[in-house]
Amino acid sequence: MTKKQSTMVKKKPESKSNTKVTQREKKIQEIKKNLLNQKKALLVGAVEALNELPGQTVFPDLGDQATAEIDRNFMLRLKGREQKLLKKIEEAMERINQGVFGICDKCGLEIDIRRLEARPVTTMCIECKTLQEEEEKLMEK
Ligand SMILES: [Zn+2]
Repeated sequence: MTKKQSTMVKKKPESKSNTKVTQREKKIQEIKKNLLNQKKALLVGAVEALNELPGQTVFPDLGDQATAEIDRNFMLRLKGREQKLLKKIEEAMERINQGVFGICDKCGLEIDIRRLEARPVTTMCIECKTLQEEEEKLMEK
């Protein structure tokens, strides 16, 4: 006569940490896809902005020319910002390819996946980023 086999279910699944890694990997692959789409959208936007540059237009008087120059400067600045973001996206994709994506630049720990999903170009964990921002604020004072 045997008792209920209660000891059988006590064993824990040992693959738990492995499953976690693959989940993260899966999310990172999704982020990579999003980065690629973001890069494409940025390039399309940059080309459109370039086509709208009033470079070839002839201006009837100085007043209009001044306005046009402000617009042009704005476009160039926008382009600069887009270029910066493009570079960040490319760097993030490079980190994914090298398998070092999502590792904090400062402390070397894994960055929270939710943070990476929200800001894939980030290179710092929330703790280090907060610290850095606090330091920057102190520097400004
Ligand atoms: Zn960190």
